[in-house]
Amino acid sequence: MNDNLMDKIVSLCKRRGFIYPGSEIYGGLTGTWDYGPLGALLKRNIKEEWWKYTVQLRSDVVGVDAAIMMNPTVWEKSGHLAAFTDPLVECKKCHQRFRADKQDEIKEHEKGHKEKIEWTTPQKFNLLVKAYLGIIEDEQSEIFLRGEITQGAFVNFENVVSSTRVKIPFGIAQIGKAFRNEITPGNFTFRSREFEQMELEYFIKPEEGEGNKWFEYWKEQRMSWYASLGIKKEKLRFRKHRDDERAHYARMAEDIEYEAPFGWSEFEGIHNRGDWDLSRHNLSYIDDEGKKFTPWVIETSGGIDRALLFFLIDAYQEEEKRVVLKLHPKLAPYKVAVFPLLANKENLVKEAKAIYEGLKKDMMIAWDDRGNIGKRYFSQDEIGTPFCITVDFQSLEDKTVTVRDRDTAKQERVEIRKLREYFEEKLK
Ligand code: ATP
Repeated sequence: MNDNLMDKIVSLCKRRGFIYPGSEIYGGLTGTWDYGPLGALLKRNIKEEWWKYTVQLRSDVVGVDAAIMMNPTVWEKSGHLAAFTDPLVECKKCHQRFRADKQDEIKEHEKGHKEKIEWTTPQKFNLLVKAYLGIIEDEQSEIFLRGEITQGAFVNFENVVSSTRVKIPFGIAQIGKAFRNEITPGNFTFRSREFEQMELEYFIKPEEGEGNKWFEYWKEQRMSWYASLGIKKEKLRFRKHRDDERAHYARMAEDIEYEAPFGWSEFEGIHNRGDWDLSRHNLSYIDDEGKKFTPWVIETSGGIDRALLFFLIDAYQEEEKRVVLKLHPKLAPYKVAVFPLLANKENLVKEAKAIYEGLKKDMMIAWDDRGNIGKRYFSQDEIGTPFCITVDFQSLEDKTVTVRDRDTAKQERVEIRKLREYFEEKLK
């Protein structure tokens, strides 16, 4: 199934409204994607779960939401102007460009040419996306769209310390868009030029930085989060960066990888950034004893789009008679779908509508009255809706409905007045 699994996922995403190619009606824009009605819900749920786990349930982490456009000095100080580069090589035959560190892609390209080809020597290619601000053309200033959301947490370090009651160790969490002029966007949304990150910068005492304590702690936290949302454990692994692949700011780096149809691939990086950023921005911290120092930082940097893609791939299953997305209920775009058994029976529709309207206040609910029940189940399975409610003639008599479970396809009768409690329990 692996061979065409990606094609199936891409097609499902388009057909059911998870993800569309960006600006499609004008021929698209390479490396950009638009999330449709279901994709937008799934993305929201991933972000909400991350925020809950990282901020809401902890007392040592606060959140920020910094601007995407920043003073260019930020990027000079952070080292991105000089070092946020990928090695670019060009095929001398057809002039297509590739990342020299992605040997698989290079080999794949070489296979496509009949004769042996030559490559240019690798050149450093800066990934920051330029933009221009200002209303008078010759006074416009060049800025960069943020290449990582991280810097928004660092430049607000003092603001957060002085406006809240955080004390080291503490973290600043953030979710937001980042932009990179990727040399080879591809593998659907995996490598895009516009994408979203979920990041935590966790500030610790320098003497606790050299050891592995916090690094290991955050590695475990992040891995458990993915596992708690249902990703198969055997498809997840850590991979330590080699010395020659670590980013300019990282003293230690390990990735969380997923075994995608296109191979083991990074979707979150855990980095020990040392005091690189705060010292470059000339920022420090004074503790309760009046001691001044530059904290070290452990960073967890995940991509929402890559996580979403891997949640979809991991949940996708083909069974004898159906395609089912076994998404964790917390992530599923719709939690419940409501159907009247027959669309042309007014009393059934009325009862079903009342249930739909009632549950809608608590969760995302789908309504379907097209075709037969079997088709409706099939349609909801394919988008991962955990439960379907059918209102039938018995419902009118005894005020019960059938509730059908996506994963087992089993049905049970539940009293209408107990539905809210029932789902509260089941969707935990
Ligand atoms: P890669 O080597 O795959 O390009 P990276 O090591 O440069 O990734 P980081 O700078 O560590 O990535 O970024 C942190 C996270 O942001 C990644 O783990 C990934 O989930 C996400 N991310 C980075 N670049 C992209 C991209 N071009 N498209 C989608 N997500 C991305």
